[in-house]
Amino acid sequence: MFFGVIFGIFICTELIWVKVSEEMSIRLRHMTKKSLAVALSAIRGFKNAIVSLEQYPTDCNIAAEVVWDAYLKGFIEGKVIADLGCGQGILGIGCMLLGAAKVHFVDVDPEVLEAARKTVALVESECSSAFFEGDVSAFKIEVDTVIMNPPFGVQSEHSDREFLDVACRLSSVVFSFHKTSTAAFVEQYARNLGFDLSERYNFSFPLKSAMAHHRRNVQHIEVSCFRFEKS
Ligand code: SAH
Repeated sequence: MFFGVIFGIFICTELIWVKVSEEMSIRLRHMTKKSLAVALSAIRGFKNAIVSLEQYPTDCNIAAEVVWDAYLKGFIEGKVIADLGCGQGILGIGCMLLGAAKVHFVDVDPEVLEAARKTVALVESECSSAFFEGDVSAFKIEVDTVIMNPPFGVQSEHSDREFLDVACRLSSVVFSFHKTSTAAFVEQYARNLGFDLSERYNFSFPLKSAMAHHRRNVQHIEVSCFRFEKS
């Protein structure tokens, strides 16, 4: 009985991985926003979310919405991208699936970066990838587009600013998620760095209760993704 259960769990895990590989192998020519969201839905959330690093995964539909629109507007295909604070890599993997030339995955947490590396290895894409483990401020490579859902600066004050500083130093196009309530501040901050707001997407962002201090199973917060471009 015991070995039967263990074997069952093993088979289920294997089947999930086969499903992930199949979904990741959907090629660009067959992609739609919907199929992108389905492929991204195979990416796991944080196993042991670290509160101080604000490890909240982006929902697959929200990730697909932003990456798809960025692709339609010419910011992804053939471009070198950085996914700063990549977590499990959902945004960067979305870019890989939509024909990016190269994606740099950057995160300070070695465990999540390793998880991202394993998932990226399953992505069937011509896109190359690189992984940088360390604080975002130590990442120095210039790119065509930054796409990031960084910490919102709730647990670690000013971490959102640190990410914006780095993003605006490394790229002239920045897609960045922030709490909607901080929109005015974020826009002014980017303006001071020489960037104009080109577009804003508003979402009700599901935060699943991966963290002990969340009481409800899923709570929603208002989050916006901003596209900033160098003035
Ligand atoms: N971008 C992912 C994860 C968002 S959670 C997604 O959209 O799902 C924020 C991520 O930023 C976490 O993975 C966390 O480990 C990382 N992070 C937090 N502070 C960081 C820092 N100073 N430098 C680099 N990464 C950081």
